[in-house]
Amino acid sequence: MPDVEPIPLSRLTTLRTGGVPERMIDAHTTDELVAALRDVWASGDEWLVLGGGSNLFVGDDPFEGTVVRVLTNGIERMPSPIPGRARLRVQAGHDWDAVVAYAVAEGLGGIEAMSGIPGTVGAAPVQNIGAYGQEIVQTLSEVELLDESTGDVSRVPAPELGLGFRTSVLKQHYGSVPARRAVILSVTLDLPEVGSGARRIAGDQLRTALRLGPDDEVTLAWVRDRILETRRSKGMVLDADDPDTYSAGSFFQNAVVSASFARTLPDECPRWPVHPDLDPVLVIPLESFDGYVPAPQPVESDVKVSAGWLIEHAGVRKGFKLPRSRAGLSTKHALALTNRGNATAAELAELARFIQGRVQSEFGLILQPEPVLVNVEL
Ligand SMILES: Cc1cc2nc3c(=O)[nH]c(=O)nc-3n(C[C@H](O)[C@H](O)[C@H](O)COP(=O)(O)OP(=O)(O)OC[C@H]3O[C@@H](n4cnc5c(N)ncnc54)[C@H](O)[C@@H]3O)c2cc1C
Repeated sequence: MPDVEPIPLSRLTTLRTGGVPERMIDAHTTDELVAALRDVWASGDEWLVLGGGSNLFVGDDPFEGTVVRVLTNGIERMPSPIPGRARLRVQAGHDWDAVVAYAVAEGLGGIEAMSGIPGTVGAAPVQNIGAYGQEIVQTLSEVELLDESTGDVSRVPAPELGLGFRTSVLKQHYGSVPARRAVILSVTLDLPEVGSGARRIAGDQLRTALRLGPDDEVTLAWVRDRILETRRSKGMVLDADDPDTYSAGSFFQNAVVSASFARTLPDECPRWPVHPDLDPVLVIPLESFDGYVPAPQPVESDVKVSAGWLIEHAGVRKGFKLPRSRAGLSTKHALALTNRGNATAAELAELARFIQGRVQSEFGLILQPEPVLVNVEL
């Protein structure tokens, strides 16, 4: 087993917090990854798979268990069964942005708006990463999964992963356990072959973010460059020289609330409708069926509201720090909690609780964290 000398997780996470784990394994091949996980699961120890550490908030105490680092890589291009598309199978430890760069260079679309998202390919479906209207669910075909309950490897089609807004069956949301305890070994994407020429790109959110007029045509490479530039201006790419990027990206999720609750919020708070899950199947037990099928009830859709707006309008401005704390809000982005230099997880948690408290007392809702919390509570 490729055991390595454990190092503090603060050196492996972008929020730069986390104590030293009991045991650490570096898995450079899929065989090593599978063997390491089966070994750890057989021992019954606590475990954590670690990709780029960019969606984790880890506590200061030592992690009493094994951290398995996913360091596999490789992109394999093959024909897609869908006409006009190409298929990429990518090993879990491959850098996500390197895959976007590869796809753009090959004239493959569908992920260019997600340029610059830190982390590994294997972690991307875990929270269904997304930006500017693109999400991995739109192009993900299947994953190769190793399940803890059986120790077996299987190919799982994307629709079985429960991919939704920053969620999947694999994600550990704060205060709960994942619906399926499993590790992604590889990810298969089906990407449209759009070529390298200029064309009109789809998606209002993306066109607005890129300030494109209705008839403007642009190349994939242009979109990628512009997205990277925009993200950099918000501290949303990793940059060792910019402390605003010592974060886990958005620390709080945009809140999904009922339409009636959304009406209690100020009109200026940005909001977007969340389309309800359509359930056109009405089951009427045979013994109670009287020949009458009731008309479907109209469903008022939930509403997603801007957590960044709520934070700023609860009086917590960009760059905010509590007295004597080394944790602060990004100076460029109201949703990013940042480590301003050797902040402990306790300091970051204190800031997160302060923000939750301000938003709750001002607007009556509790913001939920987006990163996975390990060994730390809010
Ligand atoms: C500056 C910045 C900007 C960001 N911007 C965005 C954004 O625009 N959109 C967005 O969606 N996210 C964004 N994020 C969050 C983060 O980049 C993504 O969630 C990313 O996919 C995490 O990848 P990772 O390899 O770093 O995962 P890690 O942080 O290492 O792990 C995250 C979780 O996934 C699990 N995991 C890791 N690898 C696997 C695997 N192979 N199989 C199963 N589980 C696994 C871990 O155990 C953990 O629970 C941003 C983060 C930062 C720091």
